[in-house]
Amino acid sequence: MGNDIFGMHKHHIVFRSQGGLDFDLNLAEMTLEEHEGDDGPHRNREKDLALKRGLQGKLFELFPEGDYFDIDTISRKLGRTSRYFDKHFRKVPMVGGLFPGEEVVRRLMGGKLY
Ligand SMILES: [Zn+2]
Repeated sequence: MGNDIFGMHKHHIVFRSQGGLDFDLNLAEMTLEEHEGDDGPHRNREKDLALKRGLQGKLFELFPEGDYFDIDTISRKLGRTSRYFDKHFRKVPMVGGLFPGEEVVRRLMGGKLY
């Protein structure tokens, strides 16, 4: 949550309390009403799930199952430094020194798939 100076809210699709990270795809710009209203993701579970499933689909396009990624590639695709992701990927299972696509997506979704 949080306001910027234009009154738009940046919603974390995977909430930070759910293990969500700060990267552009996990942030959805919303008005106050879209964000906190009865049809918003904090009060409407279906809306919350629809956003999460949409994010998950985009992430599987970036990190397909059966492909493997290093932290630099993950970071570049998500637009943040490898230092940031390195810190948050310490517990993610690796195969041959690389992260399987499904494990990348699972981590970015907060440790589960939707
Ligand atoms: Zn929010």
